[in-house]
Amino acid sequence: MHEKGIYIGRYTMPKDREYYEIRNPADTRQIISKFPKLARDDVKAAISIAKDAFQKWSKTLPVERAKILYKTAEIIESRANDLARLLTMEEGKTLNDSVFEVVRTANLLRFYAGLITRAQGKVIPSQDKNTIILTTREPLGVIAVITPWNFPLSLPAWKVIPAIATGNTVVWKPASITPTIALELVKVFYEAGLPEGVLNLVTGPASEVGDELVTNKEIDAITFTGSLQTGKEINEKIGRQNRFIRIQLELGGKNATVLSKNGDADLAIELTVRSAFGLTGQACTATSRFLVPEEMHDEVLNKLVERTKKVVVGNGLKNGVDMGPLASREQYEKVLSYIEIGKNEGAKLVYGGQPIRGGEEFDYGYFVMPTIFDQVTSDMRIAKEEIFGPVLAVMTYRTLDEAIDIVNSTEYGLIAGIITKDISEAARFAENVKAGVIKVNKPTIGLEPWVPYGGVKSSGNDVYKEMGEEAIEFFTRIKATYIGY
Ligand code: NDP
Repeated sequence: MHEKGIYIGRYTMPKDREYYEIRNPADTRQIISKFPKLARDDVKAAISIAKDAFQKWSKTLPVERAKILYKTAEIIESRANDLARLLTMEEGKTLNDSVFEVVRTANLLRFYAGLITRAQGKVIPSQDKNTIILTTREPLGVIAVITPWNFPLSLPAWKVIPAIATGNTVVWKPASITPTIALELVKVFYEAGLPEGVLNLVTGPASEVGDELVTNKEIDAITFTGSLQTGKEINEKIGRQNRFIRIQLELGGKNATVLSKNGDADLAIELTVRSAFGLTGQACTATSRFLVPEEMHDEVLNKLVERTKKVVVGNGLKNGVDMGPLASREQYEKVLSYIEIGKNEGAKLVYGGQPIRGGEEFDYGYFVMPTIFDQVTSDMRIAKEEIFGPVLAVMTYRTLDEAIDIVNSTEYGLIAGIITKDISEAARFAENVKAGVIKVNKPTIGLEPWVPYGGVKSSGNDVYKEMGEEAIEFFTRIKATYIGY
């Protein structure tokens, strides 16, 4: 029985809705689950239930909310292996990467459980005698959470957890291709004691379910992660509504790793291979441009190709696999089309560039070889546009200033890395690169939940950060109270 339900207040399996299939991207013969294609009325019902639940949940003591978050973390950890397996079967990433995502979710739960029981406001000295002025933080109301498929557990978690921890209620629309792991997260919250209606899960087409969440006047704030195109569309719709609501947009990236002349080339190659091909390149933090000093190019390229040959591609459930399939047919076709674009615009394909076929293991999945293009220049589409797959563009530069200009030459500004032993070079890079996160001698992939995260330029609307203490700012508003005595 593959049919699964959703949460509109409580768990329900609508009888009068069509169900669509979720298949394993490593073996599309395997159906993982079936989810209902909800309609606008279902979303309206979920929003209305979330609005009612807000009355009580917003008044619950932080210490009570924290208890539920701690309990949720405990249950998640106790089921880490099962959850990780499901995540791999639904999204395709390797089991190790899925376990990492499960652990990160438990870490997020404990971090916000601790955070909300700490002081949240200020006492400000008044200009008047016998007066106390204090600020407090209040939840906003009903939050629409709209998420992508690439981190289908931990990414929604870093929105949903601070939202409910601070007393808001949520209606969450997961990506259409990864609702199964989303449902498991919601179930665990309720098992841990979350009151009915606080977290609602709605599935179905973005054109109805997503659109209703964006346009419904009862929604108090929207937090969205996804592509630049969808982000722009949502932003426009909010603009047309002529009402003031908070909106958080975390969008794409075209991240670069720069090897400095003063850096360890082997380390740079290792970290770049991990950041470009790990997670099949389907991470917003993936490295998709590798900048190498002109004089080191030949040696580094050879070593890079040799190292990439060792990347083991296969079903993420298998031991020893480094890179799983692309997550969907759409992704698979998009990545292959960018490989064609790269070839046509004159970049030199030096490794990969093809689907992997042959035998039971590969014939039914969306497998593509890790791919390296050399002689890429900033004006090429493969150097500017987000491919979101295992395709790496190698570029050369002469001076650090030139490297920084190349890093800054795309419309994105999510994350950037430099490999160097020279601290002043690292500082200059960090100061002049326009990105939300800078990594020095570290892979671009890999974020810690206690650290604020968010892109600049077209990588996000850059008003509020996610994760860290800063996430609380999006989900709460400050009230000032003057007390005379
Ligand atoms: P999409 O923008 O296609 O979709 C993201 C979510 O939005 C999905 O739930 C989707 O639903 C929904 N959606 C799509 N259209 C609309 C609409 N018009 N109104 C409301 N909701 C809508 O992105 P992907 O899922 O393909 O995710 C990949 C993208 O996410 C990449 O660009 C990547 O860079 C970005 N990303 C950014 C991160 C960051 O922190 N900056 C982190 C991770 C990913 P449905 O699935 O039903 O289409």
